[in-house]
Amino acid sequence: MDKVFWRDPYRTSLNTVVNTVDSVDVTLRETVFFAFSGGQESDTGTIGGIEVVDARVSSNSITYTLKTVPPFTPGDVVEVKIDWERRYRLMRLHFAAEIVLVLVSRAVPVIERIGAHISETKSRIDFLLDQPITRWLPEIELEANAIIESDREINSAFSDEVAERRYWEIVGFGRAPCSGTHIRTTGEIGPVCLSRKNIGKGKERIEIVLAPDDRLRT
Ligand SMILES: [Zn+2]
Repeated sequence: MDKVFWRDPYRTSLNTVVNTVDSVDVTLRETVFFAFSGGQESDTGTIGGIEVVDARVSSNSITYTLKTVPPFTPGDVVEVKIDWERRYRLMRLHFAAEIVLVLVSRAVPVIERIGAHISETKSRIDFLLDQPITRWLPEIELEANAIIESDREINSAFSDEVAERRYWEIVGFGRAPCSGTHIRTTGEIGPVCLSRKNIGKGKERIEIVLAPDDRLRT
């Protein structure tokens, strides 16, 4: 399956051919519809005008579950459409998390990431750390916003195209493996706010939200 969301993460619709239909489960030849992976939530949208209620990665393909049994059959051409507002927020919050992760790993000694999740309203990254991460947060927030404001170019590409392994890189700042969808430049994120949550003994969570507009004026 050709995952067009990697080559062109800004594409919001696509006409493609149906590969398989099994009741409400559908696979396609190509797609712009991202399925949950690497902590980034699935897109929402439609295939052939029918709402997609679930999208999941299965080996190197993606299976979409539709709300109703579709009238189309394998070989038919259908339009895949995603909710761009949601996807763009996911992309911005996703990359905000990438930046924060690099900064945390530089600033905080002996820290291990144990999870990450990117939703439409916030990103969170969980760490194993035996002390509150609070004291590093103001500096990390400042640095993250500085990198965002400097509008650095983000390169995303395959490290292994056959195995579909991808990475992102900002020259001089960082590089990491990631199969998510990435924005082109850091400035697209806009200002972010960081906060800390305690999620149990020895575990720390950083939450990232996009700054509301009123904060920009203060
Ligand atoms: Zn990523």
